[in-house]
Amino acid sequence: MRLLSDFDGVWTHPRLEASVQASLLDAALIRAVDASQRDAARAWIAAARRTVLAEPWRYGWAPGGRLSCFADEDPFAEHSALLYAITRASASDPLAAAIREGAERASGLSLEDFGGKLHHEAVRQVEETRGPSMLTESVTAGHQMIDAGIDIVMVSNSGNDKLDRWFSSVGFKHTPHPHAAPGALRLRGHAQKFALDETRSERMHLGALDIEVARPKYEAILREEAPGAVVGDVFSLDIALPLRLKRSDPAWKHVRLFWLTRDYAPARMRREIEAHAPEVECIDDGLPGVAARLLAGIEER
Ligand SMILES: [Mg+2]
Repeated sequence: MRLLSDFDGVWTHPRLEASVQASLLDAALIRAVDASQRDAARAWIAAARRTVLAEPWRYGWAPGGRLSCFADEDPFAEHSALLYAITRASASDPLAAAIREGAERASGLSLEDFGGKLHHEAVRQVEETRGPSMLTESVTAGHQMIDAGIDIVMVSNSGNDKLDRWFSSVGFKHTPHPHAAPGALRLRGHAQKFALDETRSERMHLGALDIEVARPKYEAILREEAPGAVVGDVFSLDIALPLRLKRSDPAWKHVRLFWLTRDYAPARMRREIEAHAPEVECIDDGLPGVAARLLAGIEER
């Protein structure tokens, strides 16, 4: 039995990393414009943050300009959504254009890469001041599952460097893919679950939700790993494509899909998923809830 697990939001709670990222990002964006425009830029950014959360289905993490996840799906997504809002507005709004151009000029990066860089900087600052912070309950649940013979593979957009540091901080045995070791979880970082197919689009409709599932990098990993279960906290990034496979590929019929509904899980998405995707198990009690369900399944056999 193999469990493919997301990392951020499953083994961690990202509130502190995301709030540091918010401060760094807003400060850098405001600094990027002329001093005479800074108050206006600050107000523009605050209004844009309200807009993206008021209409989260229109904004989100949009690498290359297509929505990969919605603005309200986790605390990081709002920051990506802000950058997307700036990009969209910059065609017609001079202040948005000034913010975008200033940030790109100051960093020498696209707005998207600029956001990625500040994300890494926020993680670094949190690690330096507080240290890596694994959820104790997730670590305990991870050990229980491994002891029961479950093969855990971390499939994360974060890189193996972060995963290595964070699992090492609690002495959790791990090994980088493709190496495997008994009793160790295997790390597949930089999974790019967010990467959408540039040549095609495939939409999954669940009631009012309209989610892109043409994610070739994630699909290649899913097919190669052939898991018995998948767990993640961001439905669009982690669960939507496995659900499409479960619905369309007989080999995936019995794969269990666990959506960890953290305190930030959008109620609007939960309503639609419970109504239109009963195959998805909404888990309110974190990774221990997943472990309990999987271990009960093993004992039954
Ligand atoms: Mg996550």
